[in-house]
Amino acid sequence: MDTDLIIIGAGPAGLGLARSLDGSGLRIHLIEAQPEGALADPAFDGRDIALTHRSVRLLQDMGVWARLPPGAVGPLREARVLDGRSSWFLGFDARRERLEALGYLVSNHHIRRALYEAVRQQPDVHWRCARRVTAVHSDRQQASVTLDDGQRLTAPLVVAADSRYSRSRQQMGIPARARDFGRVAIVGRMRHERPNEGVAYECFQYGQTLAVLPVAPFESSIVTTVPASRVDEVMAMAPADYAAEVAERFGHRLGEMEIGSERFRYPLVGVHADRFAAQRFALVGDAAVGMHPVTAHGFNLGLSGQARLARRLRAAAERGGDLGDAALLQAYSREHRRETLPLYLGTNGIVRLFTDDSPPARLLRKGVLRLSDRLPPVKWAITRKLTAVHG
Ligand SMILES: Cc1cc2nc3c(=O)[nH]c(=O)nc-3n(C[C@H](O)[C@H](O)[C@H](O)COP(=O)(O)OP(=O)(O)OC[C@H]3O[C@@H](n4cnc5c(N)ncnc54)[C@H](O)[C@@H]3O)c2cc1C
Repeated sequence: MDTDLIIIGAGPAGLGLARSLDGSGLRIHLIEAQPEGALADPAFDGRDIALTHRSVRLLQDMGVWARLPPGAVGPLREARVLDGRSSWFLGFDARRERLEALGYLVSNHHIRRALYEAVRQQPDVHWRCARRVTAVHSDRQQASVTLDDGQRLTAPLVVAADSRYSRSRQQMGIPARARDFGRVAIVGRMRHERPNEGVAYECFQYGQTLAVLPVAPFESSIVTTVPASRVDEVMAMAPADYAAEVAERFGHRLGEMEIGSERFRYPLVGVHADRFAAQRFALVGDAAVGMHPVTAHGFNLGLSGQARLARRLRAAAERGGDLGDAALLQAYSREHRRETLPLYLGTNGIVRLFTDDSPPARLLRKGVLRLSDRLPPVKWAITRKLTAVHG
């Protein structure tokens, strides 16, 4: 066979898996559609990722955290969930748990660059950039991929990390439940007059939602979600008008606001694969589960999933076992689905409840927020999910 492992996609999940296998002795082929320059120096893409404590620990263990540039990490000290125009909020406070932060905000392009630099130093990783996988196939003996230049590569195992729209998932016959939310997230940075004090806000307003995430004392990441039919109109707004509208919708809590970066749009589609493995084939990252960003789980789950699979692959490599062993892949699939499915369904439920503007839904969400506030175990469970170091 040409290699021990083929990874399709060098996004955070694919790079993460290659990194987690450093020192295992496995020869890895990493195939990525983008040119290598785009991986080495990724441009700001508007996404600021809220990392849980467990993800920070994983990135530390992978030797990636220390490569983030100074000032790239924003502690998230408090989170507030607001409903409609009411000033009441459901709050989560790190200080109450005697912690420095609930989580940490880091811009996606900083994480991607740090991952790339770390994997670039691994001698056993062979890069095929600016190459697209066009076909995936497997049988009892081996798995193979065909590239867009016609080359065919074989290995005992192929892992797909090729995004929530994964073509290889389809080619390997793994069904996925997908939900198109009919909305688009518009993301970008804004500077503001007053400091944010490390507080994140999720505002469920009628017809649209607004998230304000603290990346620096006077700068926040702004995520607005609008119906897909309105996105062109909102993207065409002059920067000053858009900033003024956000400040107004945010009730001027941070004073005057101004645009701090380009705006980016992301159509909101959730995907959960029915299983994360097939014959000599596995899914990681968004290809396994692509989340709505409202609960900020997508990247975190991608990281925990690749770590789970890497642990099993390392153990198999140490005992000279088969990396494509069906029992190994099924165990990974079962374990990771146990973590992701409740979060996927729960997140979609939250989105449904908080974007439905019918009077009964408005009443229900007020009730849900107040009840969560009065039930310390619920708040504790959510806070623990964010701050626990082990899954
Ligand atoms: C607005 C927004 C905010 C978010 N905020 C958060 C957050 O706060 N916290 C959080 O945990 N998550 C967040 N996420 C989710 C997070 O960004 C994703 O979960 C994560 O980027 C997925 O990584 P991935 O490697 O699985 O896939 P991707 O980043 O999509 O990478 C897939 C890679 O595969 C390559 N590829 C695709 N097809 C092929 C092919 N055929 N051949 C070769 N290469 C191929 C692509 O070029 C790409 O590089 C957010 C997402 C959005 C949109």
